[in-house]
Amino acid sequence: MSRPTLCEACTKIVATVGPACDTVERLVTLIEHGVDIFRINSAHGDREQHSRTLANIRAASAQVGYSVGVLLDLAGPKLRLGKLLEEPLQCELGMELTFVRGDKPGSPTELTSSYPRLIDELKPGNHVMLADGTVALRVEEVHANRARCRVIGGGEIRSRQGINLPGVALSVSSMRPRDVDNAIWGAKEGVDLISLSFVRTAEDVRSLKNLLTSYESTALVIAKIEKREALEHLESIVDASDGVMVARGDLGVEIDVAETPVAQKRIIRICRDKLKPVIVATQMLESMHHNKRPTRAEASDVANAILDGADACMLSGETAIGEFPVEAVDTMHRIMIHTEQEMLTAISDPRQNGSNRVHPITSAVAYGATTIAESIGAKLIVIATRSGGTAWVKSKQRSLIPTLGASDNEETLRRMTLFWGIKPCRVSQLDDAEVLFDEISRWGCQNGMLAPGDRIVFVTGNSVMHHAHNLLVVHSVTAESCRIGAVATSPTPSSPEPSPPAPNPSTPKPVREPATPE
Ligand code: PEP
Repeated sequence: MSRPTLCEACTKIVATVGPACDTVERLVTLIEHGVDIFRINSAHGDREQHSRTLANIRAASAQVGYSVGVLLDLAGPKLRLGKLLEEPLQCELGMELTFVRGDKPGSPTELTSSYPRLIDELKPGNHVMLADGTVALRVEEVHANRARCRVIGGGEIRSRQGINLPGVALSVSSMRPRDVDNAIWGAKEGVDLISLSFVRTAEDVRSLKNLLTSYESTALVIAKIEKREALEHLESIVDASDGVMVARGDLGVEIDVAETPVAQKRIIRICRDKLKPVIVATQMLESMHHNKRPTRAEASDVANAILDGADACMLSGETAIGEFPVEAVDTMHRIMIHTEQEMLTAISDPRQNGSNRVHPITSAVAYGATTIAESIGAKLIVIATRSGGTAWVKSKQRSLIPTLGASDNEETLRRMTLFWGIKPCRVSQLDDAEVLFDEISRWGCQNGMLAPGDRIVFVTGNSVMHHAHNLLVVHSVTAESCRIGAVATSPTPSSPEPSPPAPNPSTPKPVREPATPE
């Protein structure tokens, strides 16, 4: 199976890489089954492992001949338990546990943490959740060097498991030294997206952006929404970010799990209004860690995220450590295809959303392309794009007509992996429209997706108008371009490294904003 094909899901799949899928062979299989973006979770593993994973992703992408994006996930100020004296520790209801300073507990019921100021910032009455909320504590007394807590929700804990403090405003900085180091590594390696965990304010996002800018990185910055403080500052965080992740794992501990479905809908709605991509993450197909089939509720969860308007869904442990990573991707892809077929195809008109970030001509032409394509039964829409901005505007219109984001820039191709309904497709150049039509027609015919007479709607710009896509062309595939053995300008499906496109002196460097006017 090669990609893109014209019958794949529009919603994008982000898959977390881990021991269950980190070989080139496995990664190739996952790309073939529908993965668009791989997540490297910096909370696990070391630099050597991350470098090896990145190299394997790039090799797998080259082998399939399809640009996949890489998302580097920064752990942020995630608090963790230190080493326990006894492993595991059964926390019985009503039991007393005490946080102490340092990293050496004096007894099995003494706990240490990765955050030296924890005891200073706890107050009697605060709740402390351990191990993803499995164990709940209430703080009863705080002294200079210890904080005595009572178990109010029993369970088992192990060393290094997470600590969440719902509703406690911590003074910890948004990026720990390890995050800064990882972000610099990601910038130097040219990863496409960098997500920051436990974002609290827009300032957290801006500081990561400033760091990346100083390393000339154009990676899209994704804010992970997993704290109540982030929900309180949601609009400004979405404005400051290039995209958002609904990180339901920690969010469901930081706020009441009963509030998370409505919070998810609100986050998605705000991202849609502000034209920002949104990824829904965690426990989407949780039972597929150990089962070949999902539960009905999990299938509905994926479908509902799509119906809400998510641009991408993420698999975590299902692909990283699960027994059935390929089946999990395949299942998610099938749910997406079925849901998209049934969802309302009414085209939302981005000209109405009041956003001043998109050139009105780009917006109107992208909208027009969709309406024309529907009325003439076009097989394909092609957006010729240098920065990905026009493809992003088109993506937000949610039409089911297969759409290629055609570019000669590898960075742009990889960033389009996040854009709903846009299949990145490498072309040799964007300046000569006739060559572009011919190249796409030939590619479609050679892959059995197009036949003579099929119509393609092209959206391109012309040299008169530099900042907008203002040329809309309906092209009919000719027998000549379908002739087997005809001299191809290029076989075309995006072929990523190791052969990056020759730099075009007139090609501006892709800019960070997905919705930058073109
Ligand atoms: C989450 O909390 O849902 C999440 C995606 O983050 P992590 O996997 O780092 O816990």
